[in-house]
Amino acid sequence: MADFGGDIELEDFRAEVRAWLEANFPASLKGQAVLASAEITTPNADLKAWRKAIGEKGWGTPTWPKEYGGGGLSIPQARALAQEMAKAGAFNPLMFGMGVTMIGPTILDYGTEAQKQKHIPPIVRGEVQWCVGYSEPNAGSDLASLQTKCEDAGDHWVINGQKIWTSGAQYSDWCGALVRTDPTVKKHDGISFLLIDMHQPAIETRPIKLIAGASPFCETFFTDAKAPKDALLGKLNEGWTVGKRLLQHERASQTGASGGGRQTPLHEIAKRYVEVDGKGRIADPDLRTRLTQHLMDARIHNLTLARAAAEAKGASGATNAASVLKNSATHVAQTRAELTLEIMGAQGLGWEGEAFAKEEIEAVRGWLSGKAMSIYGGSAEIQNNIISKRILGLPDTTQSS
Ligand SMILES: Cc1cc2nc3c(=O)[nH]c(=O)nc-3n(C[C@H](O)[C@H](O)[C@H](O)COP(=O)(O)OP(=O)(O)OC[C@H]3O[C@@H](n4cnc5c(N)ncnc54)[C@H](O)[C@@H]3O)c2cc1C
Repeated sequence: MADFGGDIELEDFRAEVRAWLEANFPASLKGQAVLASAEITTPNADLKAWRKAIGEKGWGTPTWPKEYGGGGLSIPQARALAQEMAKAGAFNPLMFGMGVTMIGPTILDYGTEAQKQKHIPPIVRGEVQWCVGYSEPNAGSDLASLQTKCEDAGDHWVINGQKIWTSGAQYSDWCGALVRTDPTVKKHDGISFLLIDMHQPAIETRPIKLIAGASPFCETFFTDAKAPKDALLGKLNEGWTVGKRLLQHERASQTGASGGGRQTPLHEIAKRYVEVDGKGRIADPDLRTRLTQHLMDARIHNLTLARAAAEAKGASGATNAASVLKNSATHVAQTRAELTLEIMGAQGLGWEGEAFAKEEIEAVRGWLSGKAMSIYGGSAEIQNNIISKRILGLPDTTQSS
């Protein structure tokens, strides 16, 4: 492939992207990224066609190697692709899956050639759903205390135990799980990472209902579940290292503060709901100050994100810096949600019914579901511990990672 580092080549590439989007992106999906994330398990015909087209092109995983079906694009090309897609109101329909955001990158980092050949192409094409089986009833922040047992049965592994908060487990084809393979050694040293086929009766998923109404995650029970011997990702009893890498990929995918999709600027929403003074400014000076502070925080976050991406020069983004960015993304997203409800006043209290606009109901549900952002992928406090220990080099005062 030509080197697309130069401006002229990049302009040619942009033209290619525009033509491809014109031919393949269904007009009905324009600006519908939020809908696409909600309908991930029941896509309509246009969304299905869009997933197929982008999957076959490899542009849902633009920088992944071409040999496994990825786009094989350079970072400048991938950025140009994202920009052209945003201009066209298009979105990456595969970015909502854990295969693309977490498991795939970790298999690319640690997988054998056979594992890459087997698992990466179906992820690239959006044909499989993956879940991540880490948390257990007695192992959340202190993840290394996990107890799900994995025993060597000669020609295969046998898994027994329970996971919890397993997002999308009820729809998943595969689970990337941390399991205990040696209970006799220091807890971090007896863990392995296993790629488990979810299509077996020995695995039961029970969806848990959330405050915002949906059931995005499950309790997952393993009762003599099986996995072949070559299902270990990385080496036996070295799963902690692999598991930490996956979490870095997860956090790197959670550093956008918008929650996906293009958002109406908050000051525009505000001007529809609250009083405006003679100069067209929000009349309440206190709200105006807090809104301005939020807009500055959001801008600073986005600039820092762009700087971190530029400094990474094409690396995967799986670094401890993702902890800083995840916490600042959480702060920006949760503050925006709080301010939105405050601005909407009584209209920001709706759950359903004709008295409330779609945008108002979405704001309330988004505010509730956004609470989870400071918990999943490791809580905000755990990110602070990582920042203190691994970035600032402060003394370790906890047993968590
Ligand atoms: C929406 C959502 C989706 C999720 N999806 C998945 C998934 O797909 N797969 C999966 O395996 N898990 C998933 N989780 C689970 C998530 O990873 C855990 O909830 C998280 O790691 C916290 O663990 P916990 O709930 O057991 O809380 P705990 O670990 O019990 O923590 C409770 C509180 O104590 C604080 N705390 C704990 N230890 C320390 C410490 N050392 N220092 C300072 N403060 C501390 C925490 O910050 C938190 O505020 C999901 C969670 C949510 C909310």
